[in-house]
Formats: sequence, C-alpha cells, structure tokens
Amino acid sequence: MDKQQEFVLRTLEERDIRFVRLWFTDVLGFLKSVAVAPAELEQAFDEGMGFDGSAIEGFARVYESDMIAKPDPGTFQILPWRAEAPGTARMFCDILMPDGSPSYADPRYVLKRALAKASDLGFTFYTHPEIEFFLLKEKPVDGSRPVPADSSGYFDHTPQNVGMDFRRQAITMLESMGISVEFSHHEGAPGQQEIDLRYADALSTADNIMTFRLVMKQVALEQGVQATFMPKPFSEYPGSGMHTHLSLFEGDRNAFYESGAEYQLSKVGRSFIAGLLQHAGEISAVTNQWVNSYKRIWGGANRTAGEGGESPSYICWGHNNRSALVRVPMYKPGKTGSTRVEMRSLDSGANPYLAYAVLLAAGLKGIEEGYELPAGADDDVWALSDAERRAMGIEPLPQNLGEAIALMERSELVAQTLGEHVFDFFLRNKKQEWEEYRSEVTAFELRKSLPVL
Ligand code: GLU
Ligand code: MG
Ligand code: MG
Repeated sequence: MDKQQEFVLRTLEERDIRFVRLWFTDVLGFLKSVAVAPAELEQAFDEGMGFDGSAIEGFARVYESDMIAKPDPGTFQILPWRAEAPGTARMFCDILMPDGSPSYADPRYVLKRALAKASDLGFTFYTHPEIEFFLLKEKPVDGSRPVPADSSGYFDHTPQNVGMDFRRQAITMLESMGISVEFSHHEGAPGQQEIDLRYADALSTADNIMTFRLVMKQVALEQGVQATFMPKPFSEYPGSGMHTHLSLFEGDRNAFYESGAEYQLSKVGRSFIAGLLQHAGEISAVTNQWVNSYKRIWGGANRTAGEGGESPSYICWGHNNRSALVRVPMYKPGKTGSTRVEMRSLDSGANPYLAYAVLLAAGLKGIEEGYELPAGADDDVWALSDAERRAMGIEPLPQNLGEAIALMERSELVAQTLGEHVFDFFLRNKKQEWEEYRSEVTAFELRKSLPVL
C-alpha cells in the first residue's frame, strides 16, 4: 500500500468517516457515485469496486456491463456538508475493464490520454476556469420560466444580495476541500454569479469543476435557492460561460512566454491559438454540447458589451478583445508564468474532461503542424457586417447543435482524441437530442404563428 492510501485509511479512522463515496463522471458530464464502507476500501485500492456500467450514460454495452471503479487516493476529501461524525468522504475514480485495462468510456481517461500526449511533447497543460451560473428562486417545473434569486447586476454589492452570502459560504466550502478560488463576483444578469478557480493542471481542474458543481448545488439548497449551470436559461440575459485560461509549461518555464515578442507570446503560444481557431468548429459539439448552448453563443444579449454578455460568435483571436473567441489577456510585467490564452466559447454545461481534452488536442495540433496564426481582430467583430467579416476571413462558430454535430462527425482530431467508443456514443446521443428538439413545436412558434395563421 502506498503512502497516499495509508493516509486515507488513517484519516477515515481518526475522523470517524463511515461512508466513502467513489465518484466518476459519465460521458455527458454528470457526476456518479457509488458508496463503500471504509472496511472495503483496502480492497478497492487493490482491485477496485465492481459496478454495473450499463446503468451509466455512455459507459458500456449491455453485454460488457461489468466495470471497475478504482479510487484515486490523491483526490481524497471529506465532504464539508457531511463533516460531523459519522462523516462522509469522497475520491475520484478511474474506470477499468474487468481485465484491469482502462475503460475507453471514462472521460477522465480521455483527458489523461490527451495529457500523456502533451507530456510526450514535453508539455504540462494548465487551466484556470471562470465558472458562471445562475441562482434561481426555486426548482423550475414543467419547462416554465425560471425566476432569478436576485435582481442585481455586474459587480453589484448590495445588502439584500443573495449572491454575496452564497458566494462566501460556497467559497469557504471549496477552500476547505482544497480548491483555491481566485476571484468571485456577481455577473451581468440577475441571479448570475461567477467564481474563478486558481490555475492547476488540467486533470485537477476538471476534477475540481465536478466538485464545484456539486458544492454550488449543495450550498444553494442550504440557502433555499437553486443553482443551475444551464448555458442560457433566459432569452433576455447573457448566458453562463466557462471561459478557460490555458497555458503549456515545459518544466518550470511557461512555453507561451517569449520576452520581447508581440504580447510576449511565443511561437508555441501562437501556433497553439492557431490550432484552437482552425479546429474550433469541429470541437464545438464537445465544448458546447447542448441545444441550449447555441442560444448563448447566438443570443441577442451577447452584444450588450459591458453587461457581461460577451460570449463569442465568430472564430478569431484578439488581444484583450472580448468579442473574440480566443483572447490574449494583458501581460503582467514580471510575471512570465502568467502568459496564457483565454478560450471563451466553452460553457458551464460542458463535460470538463472531454472539453479540456479536445482543446488541448486542437492546440497541440497547431504546434505539431506549425500552423501560422492569422492576424488578430482589433475590432468588435459583432459590429462588423457579414461581408466585412468574410473579407477578413472570420468564420462563424456553428449556429446550432445540428451544425456542430455535422462538423464533429467529419473530424479526425475529435475521433482520435475521444477514442472510438466515446466519439460514437457522443454523436449518437447528441443526434438524438437534436432530432427531439427539431421535432418539437416550441413556445416561439405558438406565440408567433398561432395567432396570425
Ligand atoms: N456571460 C458571458 C459568456 O457567456 C461572459 C461574460 C464575461 O466576459 O465574463 O461568455
Ligand atoms: Mg464572467
Ligand atoms: Mg473571461
């Protein structure tokens, strides 16, 4: 038994932990959990815990349903809302096949594979997400319009602000689970919050995002409200993005930094951005995986700059340009480690493991193939006409999930990165969602057409 495993077993005893939850994530990004008694844990570390994978979205075909969850002791944490004895703890798991080989259906493994590829090229991948979400008064029923929990706006600091108490409790809980928070504020829409996590290696960040979503929902319940990560719950307000700052390190050195270069951005950094741009369309179905995701990107409220509505619609990059898909934030003098690029399409409803895997793969492809970075966009690209954008070579992101699926289906990069099993399942599942949506007569049609036709 290694040191980390020993530490877990000792802590269970010292803290009187009676329940250990083994966490993993399905292909669509939903958290799953199997609880084990502490007495079973030694065996779980050795052999893993068997479970029926056919019950999990995207995991197994019925004839190969036996799967094994193997806890990663490095992710052990006591759940703060279950900290009093007898307490509950959790660990993230790797999913294995009965023969002990990694499961191709496990999103965590998809990301690990992408990270191993980066490591072969000498890189470590760091991410720092800005997570936006809404607090609602109550659980919405029957597709009715949700009600935001407050009526504040961007950076507001008002006494009756539900968000403020909420953020204080939520951040305290995250920190007690070892998740560092860098920044938090009220976002542009009523009820909308943003919490940014400190940068960490991408696997830890993806695990942290899964924990984050659960913690937000938990704290919301305790405060009598509901948290939602739906990308665009309101037509008239901005949606919830999960902009992520990305960087590659070679050992201790930030590979995106080059002293004296434009924006202090190295050739590696420029090719990485070029890769993100070149493959932005085909990875969209993963970074923006819901029918609703495209309402955020294309919704009218995007264009109310200054109110936090700035989600990207067009494939271009810029320095401090908030209308661009990829932004190179201002370089902080003396902080060579902080050179990074911000990818702004990603939304809060994405599976973070798969999303970070495809973003990394797109960027690495740019580096490996030496893609040239096109000229940056200085203008507000929403304000340009279609003809002007075309003249500048600026393409739109997919307009809807259907277009995104069609691009993904032809993508060798996404097929290779997700692996055949996840690629096939994902496409099948998303096509079904798109078909269901297309065949539904919506409130819009009933409002627009029924009274006049
Ligand atoms: N809510 C915006 C989005 O959906 C982002 C606002 C911001 O710039 O933080 O991407
Ligand atoms: Mg924001
Ligand atoms: Mg941002």
